[in-house]
Amino acid sequence: MRAIERGDVPTDALGQPKQYKQYENAQPDLMERLGEYCSYCERFIPTNLAVEHIQSKDNKCQPQLERSWNNFLLACTNCNSAKGTKVCDDTTQSYYYWPHLDNTFRAFVYKAGGIIKINPALNAAEQAQRTLELTGLDKHPNTSTKPTPKDKRWNHRRLAWKFAQDTKMSDCNFFC
Ligand SMILES: [Zn+2]
Repeated sequence: MRAIERGDVPTDALGQPKQYKQYENAQPDLMERLGEYCSYCERFIPTNLAVEHIQSKDNKCQPQLERSWNNFLLACTNCNSAKGTKVCDDTTQSYYYWPHLDNTFRAFVYKAGGIIKINPALNAAEQAQRTLELTGLDKHPNTSTKPTPKDKRWNHRRLAWKFAQDTKMSDCNFFC
């Protein structure tokens, strides 16, 4: 989970902060700032990337933040549905690390086989572990929380790792 720079609310043609009539309308601005990547699992998803509400827009949580830029990230359907309505207010938000607020790249280490572990050098390991569980990034076939067939995140990480390793090996044939 890389740290991202979302920035302040974009401005309109008159230089005024944009007001989105529907939260979905913020997707192009978010993609321009963050790229077409899930803010949590980092997968490149050119279609079907949702405007993600950090604090849930559910009526029992923060419906008034439904169209608030500062409550937006981008998420794939897997990260979005794993997170659900678990982050409901400032208190629950503070239980986790956030890619727009924290140096989330340092919090985790990515291992062969698509496994994500907590960085052993990290002091606040509990917060990092909660973050993995919140987004379901701890799921892989050898855990009790196995990914569903529709959740390809673990397998995509595994393949990305393998691709990087194979590429490094073939580079070595020429340069090492
Ligand atoms: Zn994701």
